[in-house]
Order: sequence, then C-alpha cells, then structure tokens
Amino acid sequence: MSGNRTFTMIKPDATGAGHTGKIIDKIIEAGFSIKAMKWTQLSKEDAQAFYAVHSERPFYEELVDYMSSGPIVAAILEKDNAVASFRDLIGATNPAEAAEGTIRKMFATSIAANAVHGSDSDENAAIEGSFYFSEREKTK
Ligand code: GDP
Repeated sequence: MSGNRTFTMIKPDATGAGHTGKIIDKIIEAGFSIKAMKWTQLSKEDAQAFYAVHSERPFYEELVDYMSSGPIVAAILEKDNAVASFRDLIGATNPAEAAEGTIRKMFATSIAANAVHGSDSDENAAIEGSFYFSEREKTK
C-alpha cells in the first residue's frame, strides 16, 4: 500500500526568485497538508550527505554547490498516495519536459535549478524527512 507522506524542498533558485509563497499555494491547492516546514540553508557538507545517493553521478558536485548556494524550504507533506501524487504535481526533472501546470514547468529554470525536490519512494520520504525534522516535529 502507498504511504501518505512525502518530503519536499523548495530549492535555492525558487526561494531566491521569490516563488516560495506561490509554490506553497500550489501544494495546498493540490490537496496536501503541511505536517512540518522549515526555512533553512544547507552547508556544503549537509548537501553532500543529503544527496549521497547521487555521489557517483557526473553532476554531483554541481548539485551540492547549487543546493548549498542559498536558502531552501524543507517540508513534510501529507495526502493519499503522497509520493506519486507529489511527483505528478512537480513534473519531470527537466523543466523543458515538464507538463503544463506543473510546478517545475511554472517555476524552474534548468535541469539543475528545478525549483523543487520530491521524494521518489516512501522509504526515501521517511529518510529525507528525518534529515531535517526531529521525531517530535514529525509526529505533529
Ligand atoms: P528528481 O527525482 O526529479 O529530482 O531527479 P533526480 O533524482 O534524477 O536528480 C536529483 C536532482 O539532481 C534533480 O532534481 C536536479 O536538481 C539534479 N540533476 C538531475 N540531473 C541533472 C543534470 O543532468 N545536471 C545537473 N546539473 N543537475 C541534475
């Protein structure tokens, strides 16, 4: 059975461009409820740890530099079938290929600076949520 929670980050390109509020509106309009949320900035070491699964990929260094370059908003979201439903809402990794109306189509500028993160599995949603939020914050 699919889980009802996912994890997101609004990335530095989107916070820097003043899109945070508009993106949160889209998330709420799509039926997600926010269970935890925080505005913060990753150090380079934080970004390396968060994206450790991508450490062998050619764009890893670029991704780490980019994700630690400015503020992000981390959040745990709840909705039925949350992981798949949220990935539908954000659209394809490359905004040039993202469907009309998706968050990446509306707000992303490139495959690297693609406005938002969305977990790709229930297991990763739980791991990623725990990266930012304590047990007490997560159980609200
Ligand atoms: P996602 O699940 O849609 O976020 O995509 P991936 O898991 O494949 O990649 C993780 C993140 O790495 C993406 O959201 C992008 O920010 C970044 N990324 C993916 N592909 C590329 C690429 O070819 N070049 C660069 N610079 N960054 C990339």
